[in-house]
Amino acid sequence: MSEKPYISVIIPVYNEEGNLPDLMSRLYPVMEGVGKPFEIIFTDDGSKDNSLKLLTSFIEPYPEVKIIELNGNFGQHMAIMAAFEISLGDIVITLDADLQNPPEEIPRLIAEIEKGHDVVGSIRLARQDSFFRKRASQIVNLVVRNITGMKMSDYGCMLRAYSRPIIDNINRCQETSTFIPALAQTFSSSPTEIEVGHSLRQEGESKYSLYKLIRLNFDLMTGFSVVPLQMFALLGIFTSLFAVAFAIFLMIRRFIIGAEVDGVFTLFAILFFFIGIAIFGIGIVGEYVGRIYQEVRHRPRYVVRHIYESKK
Ligand code: UDP
Ligand code: MG
Repeated sequence: MSEKPYISVIIPVYNEEGNLPDLMSRLYPVMEGVGKPFEIIFTDDGSKDNSLKLLTSFIEPYPEVKIIELNGNFGQHMAIMAAFEISLGDIVITLDADLQNPPEEIPRLIAEIEKGHDVVGSIRLARQDSFFRKRASQIVNLVVRNITGMKMSDYGCMLRAYSRPIIDNINRCQETSTFIPALAQTFSSSPTEIEVGHSLRQEGESKYSLYKLIRLNFDLMTGFSVVPLQMFALLGIFTSLFAVAFAIFLMIRRFIIGAEVDGVFTLFAILFFFIGIAIFGIGIVGEYVGRIYQEVRHRPRYVVRHIYESKK
């Protein structure tokens, strides 16, 4: 156990008592089979059932297990972040506790990292989720690909592997709402994806209500792109230009044709002019807010891969 782990497996747990024993009995032989020192870090994300008790009972038989107990429910991504911070492995693997991601795929992820990739994503083959979830994911994947410009086929699948430098960079990020696969992608220089199996959730139900899902997808979109804001700013600028042009047109009409409908058109011209200015102002404020947002996130501004200098 004193050996430094080469692989860290990270599993967020929120009310998963029905899955933990099976998870452990499938995961452990896989990790032993890899034949390298490893650690398994569970984060108990404020479970209200017996999950924590079960987890602590693993420590005795499985010395590689570490448990982080959070003092409330902070969400899957924060639970994983907490484990990243204490992880020691050169390769870090994330996995769901509900056995939807087969632990047997882990050696394939490790092989890809060892080939030199720094992030290994996964695409769920024959995804076993409700029709609604699958369609919603398709839309999210498409929108995110377009507004963030990131090339990733399946954002939602959490069976992923990361190399140590990626984890170190993620650990430099102090943001409170995030989406780990996207964050990793921003630091990655040679990502790859493999296809993995996907099963039905073994026990219990999805921990994501519709509300939590919508929140998560907002985190993904607003956390990794200011495109929605910029689009609004642009729209504001175009609308205001149009409004001002229209106001000028109505003014000119006033002078050529004279007052129409007792001067109501003139009133409209004045109104359009001011509305135009107001929307333009919102657009500009939007631009500044976007910049402030990027600043306050305190993400690393750049990532150095290597510094070359003479040895003397
Ligand atoms: N999870 C968590 N905190 C939460 C919600 C979920 O730690 O607030 C864990 C959960 O225990 C599971 C993983 O995140 O290990 C994925 O959750 P779930 O299977 O419910 O999501 P789905 O597969 O429906 O997307
Ligand atoms: Mg699941």
